[in-house]
Amino acid sequence: MLLEFVTYLKRQKKKAPCIIFIDEIDAIGKSRTSGNFHSGGNDEREQTLNQLLTEMDGFGAGDLTVIILAATNRPEALDAALLRPGRFDRQVLVDRPDLSGREAILNIYGKKVKLGEDVDLHKIAVRTSGFGGADLANLVNEAALLAARNQRQTVAQKDFAEAIERVVAGLEKRSRVLSDREKKIVAYHEVGHALVGAIMPGSGKVEKISIVPRGMAALGYTLQLPTEDRFLRNEQEIRGQIATFLGGRAAEEIIFGNITTGASGDLQKATDFAEQMVTTYGMSKVLGPLAYERGGKGGFLANGGVNSRRLLSEKTAEAIDNEVKEIVEKAHQEALDILNHNRDLLEKISQQILEQEVIEGEELYNLLDQARSPWE
Ligand code: ZN
Repeated sequence: MLLEFVTYLKRQKKKAPCIIFIDEIDAIGKSRTSGNFHSGGNDEREQTLNQLLTEMDGFGAGDLTVIILAATNRPEALDAALLRPGRFDRQVLVDRPDLSGREAILNIYGKKVKLGEDVDLHKIAVRTSGFGGADLANLVNEAALLAARNQRQTVAQKDFAEAIERVVAGLEKRSRVLSDREKKIVAYHEVGHALVGAIMPGSGKVEKISIVPRGMAALGYTLQLPTEDRFLRNEQEIRGQIATFLGGRAAEEIIFGNITTGASGDLQKATDFAEQMVTTYGMSKVLGPLAYERGGKGGFLANGGVNSRRLLSEKTAEAIDNEVKEIVEKAHQEALDILNHNRDLLEKISQQILEQEVIEGEELYNLLDQARSPWE
């Protein structure tokens, strides 16, 4: 009975100071607006959620010694009210393990079974990109079952090979493991960002490139740190940033001749930046140093009614669109120029990342230092 949970919660609160940990919070914290409104038991779940929210609001300043932690694999399904300030307002993303992480995890689970002489956990780690801790535990289990079924006393490398295939088949259904082709695209895409970022002004130092799937949306990522903490940027730097956003897409174009849907978020960011240059920062020569704000992103008055947005003539709106388009196209061309000029390096780093999954720090700086500007 779910309401028992709330009673339990109330009792725990009296025991403060304490830490309350709720695993699989999505079981009660699912968004109240999503489907299945009339299925049985749903009312109860909703009541429980409401009660949980009320209890959490009850932890005033005096109750700081009660800390509630919760875990979920489906943060996107949680009710928005749960994530507001004062409730679960801090979110910690626990990434899937990279190559060395997987090897370490395999070492732990590997101790629980009798491994044969030929077992190479490093090789198994290499082949299990995208696996989480539970998947690896499952893998060791499967391999042990296969050995037992064949009446062997120890688990052999070939058991792991077969178990990987079984587990991967299961994971692929949940689309969490990248195929070799997808991996390749992600690798070139991320290195594209990094190389353009290495040449263009305004983008910070690239600290890390990874093709280990992360979170819900990103298949790979390029971690860039700003060289200095600052908010002010000049026009050249913003243009550089836009080209860097487009670098992933440009690399896909050069290597594969087409673009995957993975690049759409980058395009959105690039366009947003270009639009801000024109409409907010007054960096357009055609439109001049005026702040034009366009609708769509306004606050709660955005749909008609009173608002302070400057009403744009059709002609001005068109001029803005043209300017934005020109900025993005120029940046795109610059990204292509840089990558074509450094094509060998693009290949080299991408191949390396396909082997290692992650390149970071000194090793990465040394590689990116070899990038050359096409305009010098
Ligand atoms: Zn990208």
